[in-house]
Amino acid sequence: MPSANQNESSPRFRRVILKLSGESFAISGERGIAMDEVVHIARQIQQAEATGCQIAVVIGGGNILRGANFKERSSHIQAATAHYMGMLATVINGLGLQDALESLGCDTRLMTAIRMDGVAEPYIRRRARAHLNKKRVVILAAGTGGPYVTTDTAAALRALELEADILLKATRVDGVYSEDPEKNPHAVFYDELDYVTVQEQNLDFMDSTAIAHCKEHKMPILVFNYKKDGNILRAVRGEELGTRIRLKQDEA
Ligand code: UDP
Repeated sequence: MPSANQNESSPRFRRVILKLSGESFAISGERGIAMDEVVHIARQIQQAEATGCQIAVVIGGGNILRGANFKERSSHIQAATAHYMGMLATVINGLGLQDALESLGCDTRLMTAIRMDGVAEPYIRRRARAHLNKKRVVILAAGTGGPYVTTDTAAALRALELEADILLKATRVDGVYSEDPEKNPHAVFYDELDYVTVQEQNLDFMDSTAIAHCKEHKMPILVFNYKKDGNILRAVRGEELGTRIRLKQDEA
């Protein structure tokens, strides 16, 4: 669990999983990758890493392809194939993020859940932990390596097996709302929620399998806005921002 603050710049969290969706790599409303957007996020990661927090990034692929949507549009592709295509899309993003981080002087390792020697290391839990301990930013691509789930689920599982203190879910809005705030300006913002309320109200900020894993294993989640400069740093410092999801007080 989080260690106490030692000084102003020290992180509150020792190790975090940062879930970045593919859309954070594209210009708003567009698809594909824009390196300026990738570098914007990479700078924020670099700031956060400089505090000494160990960061593993689970990267999405929705800016390129989401398996379920792709399958829906054609009967000529099998669902599993479409999901594998989605997983490969996350590797494209991972390569972009790796170079962006390294151009800023960060030491990184790209690890994939589907083996692709020559491009990245295979994901091996103990090796990932060793990289983190050596202060390398670890980028985890290809999700879980299996179809029919999303990178939210991969992020929840990696947070558990890498014993992260918290799962940081970066979104383009300030946190969790009662409804989509981009559609309803009167949607209510929550600064804190428990997993049961999230499940009962079907709050749609992360896939339900990921929420279930976090709930079962008491992994706290912070949903916050990556578009605001410095928010990744604030998140690892444990500052007040976004929406915190955890157990109800009486269950803790
Ligand atoms: N995917 C998968 N297994 C995984 C992770 C991802 O099959 O463990 C596929 C799935 O089709 C998903 C796509 O990869 O839609 C891209 O990931 P995701 O939709 O989570 O990206 P994001 O929305 O975060 O950009």
